[in-house]
Amino acid sequence: MTTQQTASRFDGFGATIFTEMSRLALEHDAINLGQGFPDFDGPDFVKDAACEAIRSGQNQYARSIGVPALNKAIAKRFQRESGLSPDPETEITVTTGCSEALAASFLGLVNPGDEVILFEPYYDSYRACVAMAGAKAKFITLKPPHFRIDEAALREAFSDKTRAILINTPHNPTGAVFNLDELHLIAELCKEHDAMAITDEVYEHLTFGVEHEHLAAVDGMYERTVTLSSLGKTFSFTGWKIGWAIAPPHLSNAVRMAHQYLTFASATPLQHGAVAAINAPDSYFDEFRAAYKRRRDLLVDGLARVGFKVHPPQGTYFVLADHTPFGFANDVAFCKYLIEEIGVAAIPPSAFYANPEEGKDLVRFAFCKSEAMLREAISRMSELKRREV
Ligand code: PMP
Ligand code: GLN
Repeated sequence: MTTQQTASRFDGFGATIFTEMSRLALEHDAINLGQGFPDFDGPDFVKDAACEAIRSGQNQYARSIGVPALNKAIAKRFQRESGLSPDPETEITVTTGCSEALAASFLGLVNPGDEVILFEPYYDSYRACVAMAGAKAKFITLKPPHFRIDEAALREAFSDKTRAILINTPHNPTGAVFNLDELHLIAELCKEHDAMAITDEVYEHLTFGVEHEHLAAVDGMYERTVTLSSLGKTFSFTGWKIGWAIAPPHLSNAVRMAHQYLTFASATPLQHGAVAAINAPDSYFDEFRAAYKRRRDLLVDGLARVGFKVHPPQGTYFVLADHTPFGFANDVAFCKYLIEEIGVAAIPPSAFYANPEEGKDLVRFAFCKSEAMLREAISRMSELKRREV
């Protein structure tokens, strides 16, 4: 057997755009503003808690649903932030990153043939999860410059076949943070069509001057919402892959069913580290946000000075910019030039649209990098000239 044997459910999928661009960044010694991972470490008090757990023998399988102290810490923080009171034992499930929480939600809750509504541009794993579950995706496009939800398009997308809608807020890659009007509209349609919502809130602590709202806290939504998040972004430990799902028992049981056969449990000592992280004082979250606001402003201003049309994000650590002032045919050609000739890696967002044409004028930069690195990237990009084609 020598030919490719990948199952047909992955037809049309290749290496992710993040893997591809990080590989090219290394090859060309480019500054990597592509894949979203910080070039700095998370706090020592979290590392110390994980090291202590390893040394004190917390090294065997964790309980499938999570180390009890972590389930408690997640429930307590969610209570403070949303006003909801999930039961740590029956309504919180610890997973291997938000990625596994997404896969477990789709596999546990969505039947083959069901329709799932996704907003595009989308985080790439959503489409793969839809494919793994054998479901059918319906897309709503968030359009520049403000990337707001189009009410008519959303109403049109819902039908009696809609099993779920996936909402990512703050939204990667547009930086939009959905407001209460948008969440109320989603809630109204979910109730009308008896659909559930799966929310990806991994950037919940990264907002700039706007509030992150939890869809689960909107009237009547808790019973039909699975809230997902993870440690990676908020604590700058993307490699730890500790995530979680919060939902009432009739939804949590389904997520747990898939989770116990996907991974069974997540790394025990890192769950102990996560307890220290989630119990961090408010000052940690305030300083975290303030440092990211400085990085955001630095990159947004720098990109504008260099000549991009920038769409400043309300949240996340990404910024979308329009590269058309430089005269390239599309985002892939632009990103290739940027890596090879300028020495900066970014992500071509056409990979995040069902119809790649929709994203061809845009480029995504990540600002989860030191200020020195961001300055150096801007200085390199000041060499960009309009290409005469
Ligand atoms: N959702 C979004 C929107 C993301 O950007 C990411 C990036 N890593 C993930 C989920 C995956 O999270 P994790 O690393 O916790 O699996
Ligand atoms: N979430 C990160 C991003 O959007 C990438 C994670 C990954 O490489 N899969 O850039």
